[in-house]
Amino acid sequence: SYVGIHSTSFRDFLLKPELLKAITDCGFEHPSEVQQVCIPQAILGTDVLCQAKSGLGKTAVFVLSTLQQIEPVAGEASVLVMCHTRELAFQIRNEYQRFSKYMPEVKTAVFYGGTDIKENEKLLKDKETHPHVIVATPGRLNALVREKKLRLGSVQRFVLDECDKMLDQIDMRRDVQEIFRATPTQKQVMMFSATLSPATRPVCKKFMQSPLEIYVDDEAKLTLHGLQQYYIKLGEAEKNRRLNDLLDQLEYNQAIVFVKSTVRATELDRLLRECGFPSVAVHSGVSQEERIKRYTDFKNFAHRICVSTDVFGRGIDIERINVAVNYDMPDSPANPGASDKDSLAQAADTYLHRVGRAGRFGTKGVAVSFVSTERDEQVLKAIEARFEKKIEEYPEGGQGVNV
Ligand code: ADP
Ligand code: MG
Repeated sequence: SYVGIHSTSFRDFLLKPELLKAITDCGFEHPSEVQQVCIPQAILGTDVLCQAKSGLGKTAVFVLSTLQQIEPVAGEASVLVMCHTRELAFQIRNEYQRFSKYMPEVKTAVFYGGTDIKENEKLLKDKETHPHVIVATPGRLNALVREKKLRLGSVQRFVLDECDKMLDQIDMRRDVQEIFRATPTQKQVMMFSATLSPATRPVCKKFMQSPLEIYVDDEAKLTLHGLQQYYIKLGEAEKNRRLNDLLDQLEYNQAIVFVKSTVRATELDRLLRECGFPSVAVHSGVSQEERIKRYTDFKNFAHRICVSTDVFGRGIDIERINVAVNYDMPDSPANPGASDKDSLAQAADTYLHRVGRAGRFGTKGVAVSFVSTERDEQVLKAIEARFEKKIEEYPEGGQGVNV
């Protein structure tokens, strides 16, 4: 435990004045626990493997520590950050821009699929525009490396956010490995997630040299204290009406509703709008440009409700979200190799990440899960057992549920 948390300040980390000024502008007063533990080591170039619960500021750990160490050279990328979705890449790049506000010499860029690769290439061709910090999804980044449009010989820091997700998916892992091999042997490697199973840890550590390892071994500690969690048992056909009631009852600031497919996201979003709810859908079924536009609009409060697939299930940070609904209970994709125990564990991970979109940075929130099948019930039980948290039945008429 950390004594005297409140007396700790970002100044204690001896960061550059340009960074401290940006931190103040962002309204950060005190470093969170994960920041206190990781930043002092990370700015010394130590490898970091870090599990810490949702919404407590893992992003700032790598953004601040890479910016602290950066010595920008024209035409060379020294920081490489990868994550699993395009919206998250976009969001992380914005964090880099926010924190490098007073470091005008540092150039940042974001690369992801579904956009014109020629635009990325153009940026990389010119020393004047070549980024020093690249945030990307692995597919697009690897395409740029393979085509020799991007050279990674000057990379000094290699960061994976949502690392378990990136290394669990075979195709993504392959891209990450290929990119990793294209970078110099001597470099700092940092990886982050709220979920890091004992089985995944050694996989991550293969990329590292004597890392600082931070784990949450008591999984009960991953529960967000500001978050009230409920379930509602109902038939599939009742879901729309119950969602309607919920959205009428709960005084949400912004709400996120998770469904299991893009088709269901489109349908539900349409239905909500027909009923007069200010909704938007974000999923992989719309064009990339439109996806980012919807993400930005939602973040800027142009919509109050977002219907989403797991595209928004991890990493996405929208301050005003205080209600998360699992319209469809999370489940793991049919994976022939996985045991039932593994797939239930995966579903529980997904649940933890999804509900973590509400109640960011210790704020209050409500999560409600619709349980309609036997499998849903199994998943619910697995979640309760895993996080040692009794999820209560949603009270009649929402009595006592306060956002
Ligand atoms: P994580 O990646 O751990 O889930 P994020 O890095 O997305 O969490 O941070 C969650 C939110 O908390 C963000 O909106 C971020 O700006 C905010 N935040 C992070 N660190 C601090 C801090 N020290 N003080 C205040 N807010 C912070
Ligand atoms: Mg994060």
